[in-house]
Amino acid sequence: MRLTRYFLPVLKETPADAQIASHRLMLRSAMVRQMSAGIYSWLPLGFRVLQNIEKIVHEEQVCAGAHPILMPTIQSADLWRESGRYDAYGPEMLRIKDRHDRDMLYGPTNEEMVTDIFRKAVGSYKELPQMLYHIQWKFRDEIRPRFGVMRGREFLMKDGYSFDIDKESAIHSYNRMLVSYLRTFERMGLTALPMRADTGPIGGDHSHEFLILADTGESEVFLDKSVTELRLGEREVDYADRAQLASIVEEWTTPYARTDETHDAAVFESETPEARRMTARGIEVGHIFYFGDKYSKAMKAEVAGPEGSLIPVEMGSYGIGVSRLVGALIEANHDDNGIIWPEAVAPFDVAIVNLKQGDEKADAACNELYAAFSGAGYEPIYDDREERAGAKFATMDLIGIPWRITVGPRGLKNGVVELTSRRSGESIEVAPAEAVEKYVELRRAAS
Ligand code: ATP
Ligand code: MG
Repeated sequence: MRLTRYFLPVLKETPADAQIASHRLMLRSAMVRQMSAGIYSWLPLGFRVLQNIEKIVHEEQVCAGAHPILMPTIQSADLWRESGRYDAYGPEMLRIKDRHDRDMLYGPTNEEMVTDIFRKAVGSYKELPQMLYHIQWKFRDEIRPRFGVMRGREFLMKDGYSFDIDKESAIHSYNRMLVSYLRTFERMGLTALPMRADTGPIGGDHSHEFLILADTGESEVFLDKSVTELRLGEREVDYADRAQLASIVEEWTTPYARTDETHDAAVFESETPEARRMTARGIEVGHIFYFGDKYSKAMKAEVAGPEGSLIPVEMGSYGIGVSRLVGALIEANHDDNGIIWPEAVAPFDVAIVNLKQGDEKADAACNELYAAFSGAGYEPIYDDREERAGAKFATMDLIGIPWRITVGPRGLKNGVVELTSRRSGESIEVAPAEAVEKYVELRRAAS
């Protein structure tokens, strides 16, 4: 992408009403614009990041055996009356009437709808397990929308739903999702820790919220430090292997990790040696839940079991805050100059900065580098504006491109361009013809 042809209306001034770094940086770097309270448009740069995140979520969901679908945003109130949640949900639900005076709503979540799809389609235990998910906009009329996309009213969520014949296989589905979430967040360069959450009347320990640690998080968290050091890394995961998944889940969920909602000081102290006790703040980026037959019973989502009698299916639901993740990633990856995107979600891979636009040799070198990076499968953004070097560097630092190639007449005379890491700030000189190769090497070493 050439910057002169891009749509990147960055802001010079820091927006006064944005309280946290990610909100300020998303506005300044022209990723989003607020349309009304808690409702945003995504501009080209922000939309690229959102789509990169979506892609990782999709890949890991499919890898774990979930099937992508797409349910509508607008739902009929009737389904919600069946489950009993139409009255229970409260003022967060945006209720709408259509021209025939029928009650509709903008979906805050999709348990009822997916249960309806399931019950009309599946009749026998032999067709189980099933796991369906979609990435779709939700609306919740939050009492206090704030922090930009972190707590919006309209927001993008991945919500998945599992259907099993008995509790044992439902827990396997739950474990599949827990492990796939570990992989999903790790791929984004995030440490998101599963923390025990409230299971309400269902009981048991099969609900976890995934939190990333950040000072601006809305939840207070209490944890055993050892859990922050766990990594899946290159470990191969076999989603059909119940024992393997159960052992990974155990590894991550045994050390104490809870939010203020489930925190128990006595248990924390007895389970966790003092040196490992940690109190911090966290941002909830995901939530998984096993809820048994709560919806299937109310909505008669039953299948014939092995003995022929009808059994309500065992369900779970699994959410990821896709649009919130954009803000959360910035909270975890920024400095005073701007965003520092992890490679996996960066809007562009590399910034090419021309120090002397209009200089024949510099222009030619930039064009060649652009072609070389594109040809190797990477996406460059080329700052071809007639601007001071300082302004160009500031823009690329602000929008967080992980690597920068600086091209100028003086360097070219010596046969070199400069390759700089946004994260470490370190630069090396490299011959233009070797820039791609060196970039690939450094990128690999840094991740
Ligand atoms: P919170 O406690 O933050 O209000 P929740 O528990 O109500 O969230 P869930 O119903 O578990 O949210 O939704 C799944 C995921 O969707 C959450 O983990 C979060 O990442 C995201 N999410 C929920 N509400 C919002 C919102 N208002 N804006 C952006 N993302 C949200
Ligand atoms: Mg939640």
